[in-house]
Amino acid sequence: MKTKSGDFVLPGDALGVTEEFVPSEGTYEEDGEIRSLTAGTVSMDNKNKKISIIPKTSSPSVLKNGVVVFGQISEVRGQRALMRLEGIKGKSRSLVTSFSGAIHISQADKGYVAKLSDEFRIGDLIEARVTKVMGIDNVDLTTAEDELGVIKAMCTNCRHFMKRTDKNEVTCPNCGRKEKRNISSEYEG
Ligand SMILES: [Zn+2]
Repeated sequence: MKTKSGDFVLPGDALGVTEEFVPSEGTYEEDGEIRSLTAGTVSMDNKNKKISIIPKTSSPSVLKNGVVVFGQISEVRGQRALMRLEGIKGKSRSLVTSFSGAIHISQADKGYVAKLSDEFRIGDLIEARVTKVMGIDNVDLTTAEDELGVIKAMCTNCRHFMKRTDKNEVTCPNCGRKEKRNISSEYEG
């Protein structure tokens, strides 16, 4: 089945191959295949060999490089912290699809980071900037800016949200535990 202009597609739908087309707005590439990032209508530019997606009006939140997203840390292991993206900052609607992204240790903070668990812990709410979109579960993120990083830290001991008590320190109001974080200048609490 060939995709054509005007077709309605859903996130992840195959649109064409990179041998024939250039992926453009609203699409991503995976193993030589061009897929849709969002629900919308296919627009094929046969002259310039470009495929793009015009998002459905009810799903305007298209993920792209440079936007700031918010979400929750789901895993911190080795050199990477994983995050479930919940929405784009400044847009009222949340993302239509559940994207997940990764923050590499080199992109976690402005300076050198020895231990990623001093930056983030599972359950933390964070804000991060998108640096590359390679797929629905393959988004690269950075938090190496003052206003990015943890906006709400979750206590690893008792799962309560913590209060900021120093530049890189949060304290649990419930159990008194102190932990380190990459705290955003927009930390809530
Ligand atoms: Zn606690």
